[in-house]
Amino acid sequence: MTDIVDEQTRSYVMSRVRSTQNKSTELKLISIFKELNIKGWRRGSKLKGKPDFIFPKNKIAIFVDGCFWHGHECRKSIPQTNIDYWMTKIAKNKLRDSEVSQYLQNKKWNVIRIWECELKKKHREILYQKLQPLITQL
Ligand SMILES: [Zn+2]
Repeated sequence: MTDIVDEQTRSYVMSRVRSTQNKSTELKLISIFKELNIKGWRRGSKLKGKPDFIFPKNKIAIFVDGCFWHGHECRKSIPQTNIDYWMTKIAKNKLRDSEVSQYLQNKKWNVIRIWECELKKKHREILYQKLQPLITQL
């Protein structure tokens, strides 16, 4: 099978998805931290897998995973061209996610993974549940 999407188009699409997703999701989560009076978070961690937020005192690492890139089942929209490419890419991400979680857990980190879609208001209860360790420990 030949590639329909050329390399340039592909990296353009990827960078666009990635950059818009990252900024807005992180900001949303920060405002939720404020809402819940959760303090002590740090960004830009050098830990394996580069968690989006860490709480060094409590050894809690938070990842916000984009539903598309990390294969959340809420998201059915795979681009119609180059399906093999996207599927492989997403499968690799999923595998890496679980390896990273395992690694950090072995180092006694408590890993919290939040789906991008869970930042929506209608899923607030799921989110609060996931953030529970932070609300009770801090
Ligand atoms: Zn999702």
